[in-house]
Amino acid sequence: MSVTPSMGARAIIGFFKSCQIFAILGLYNRLSMAKDKYKAVWVSHSSISDWLDCPRAYYLKNVYKEPKTGRKVSLMSPPLALGQAVHEVVEGLSVLPVDKRFEEPLLSKFEIAFKKVSGKKGGFIDKSEEFKHKQRGQEMLKRLEKNLGPLSGLAVKIKMDLPWFWLSEKDNIILCGLIDWLEYLEKEDAVSVIDFKTGKKKVSKDSLQLPIYYLLASETQSRKVKSLSYWYIAFEDKPEKQEKPDLSDARENILKVAKEIKLARQLERFICPNNGCRSCKPFEAIIKGEEELVGKDGIGRNVYILPGVEEESASEVL
Ligand code: SF4
Repeated sequence: MSVTPSMGARAIIGFFKSCQIFAILGLYNRLSMAKDKYKAVWVSHSSISDWLDCPRAYYLKNVYKEPKTGRKVSLMSPPLALGQAVHEVVEGLSVLPVDKRFEEPLLSKFEIAFKKVSGKKGGFIDKSEEFKHKQRGQEMLKRLEKNLGPLSGLAVKIKMDLPWFWLSEKDNIILCGLIDWLEYLEKEDAVSVIDFKTGKKKVSKDSLQLPIYYLLASETQSRKVKSLSYWYIAFEDKPEKQEKPDLSDARENILKVAKEIKLARQLERFICPNNGCRSCKPFEAIIKGEEELVGKDGIGRNVYILPGVEEESASEVL
């Protein structure tokens, strides 16, 4: 004999069924939103700067891959080559113990670092241009040797090749970046973030670079961040302290931009608002096959050169 459920029983069974459906949907949502660093959108100071410059500039520098090689592309120019060689020398110091840090003169290290960008690899059009830039680098390092300041003290090294953390687990966004120098402040058991600048101009107060490093340093090592500075080693003898933003404001501002980037990537929508300008012309020329390929960089991008670029039009993101 079969028993037909009453209306009340049917309502209860229906309720439980919908609960099961909601539970399954909830689980699915949680799984599909689960953090996955391989599927996450990674943002850094340089990619955020590219985005803020212009969406298509971001696309060309961070998303576009050459159809033939499947590689991303990057552009080398004399100011970038100079910055790269100087940074290699200075950042290399932080991994050495204080008593061994200056056993080898900085200028000999620079000689080796500069060889890597000599000639076409650095975008130099002739020997005299290369000599002029090399001399500038030597002067910066001579200045540092005379004014060691924090370079002669303890430094904290973050134990990650590329420091990163979840800027938002919910949105699957990671913030990453390399901080030039983390000075250890023994008395306070704190750190001070220092970013070396090899350019001739000061960084705009609106730049998100130090807020990004503030977040990174706070999230990827255990000590409190006491201060943030730029050190303009082309013309200043010591680091210049910058205003420290509120950490949660910094997080909010950076996350807002990162979410815009994520959305644009999802929609594959990177529009040039100007129909072209000089910032992207060299990249557009790469796409058309008009720039010269000179090699690969440390992260596997094909490197093209842009000879004859002066500092004002070349960004220095290292
Ligand atoms: S050409 Fe200029 S405006 Fe157009 S995408 Fe590039 S940077 Fe933006």
